[in-house]
Amino acid sequence: MCFFIRKDEMNKIIPFINIHTHRLVAEDELSIFNAPNYFDLSKHTNFASIGIHPWNIQTINSKECIDFIRLNASAKNVLAIGECGLDKLVETNIQIQEDLFKLQICIAESVKKPMIIHCVKAFDELLQIKKELNISIPLIVHGYNNNEQIAEQLVQNNFYISFGKALLKEDSNASKIISMIPIEKVFLETDDTAIPIKSIFEKAATYLQMDVQSLKEKININFKQLFTYE
Ligand SMILES: [Zn+2]
Repeated sequence: MCFFIRKDEMNKIIPFINIHTHRLVAEDELSIFNAPNYFDLSKHTNFASIGIHPWNIQTINSKECIDFIRLNASAKNVLAIGECGLDKLVETNIQIQEDLFKLQICIAESVKKPMIIHCVKAFDELLQIKKELNISIPLIVHGYNNNEQIAEQLVQNNFYISFGKALLKEDSNASKIISMIPIEKVFLETDDTAIPIKSIFEKAATYLQMDVQSLKEKININFKQLFTYE
């Protein structure tokens, strides 16, 4: 027996992929929930990412958090390590941030899972760390809204770039540069907002001059290439 699925029917079943959210979200999307550090992952069926956000370093017990990440990194529903990274606008000393970030890179490398990276005014340091540690796992810079030159450097160094709410402002850097990034390197997200991922896809599709279904297909291909999941 042979089944034919029409292209438009097939497109319907491709979900909106939300690479990074702090909210447990709607059914028609496939999302990576940024789990709080002490979240009980065994009771949680959604895909998650676990990591230490640079904003939280001063209020958490970093050793306990690193132990938690180490213990849970290989869990099936943990698809990525993060969000973690570097932020020069927070008080925490950048060296402390780098040390914790590098520890998390080692964990991600050991389980061969991608990282979701938060980076504010520290792209030189980020690029330096990538070179220094000879990182092989995929690195996704999330919530990108910086200039074209930094985006180019990131792409040249094999980073992936995730765009979110900044796309809703037409004069933002994100809106201006998304079409300059190779589509194979692009992801979309809602981060901590309540904006539906569908709206982010619709905006992105306009800038990329493609229809939403084609964009869903492209992002779906990117997702399947980077993440292992059942
Ligand atoms: Zn976030």
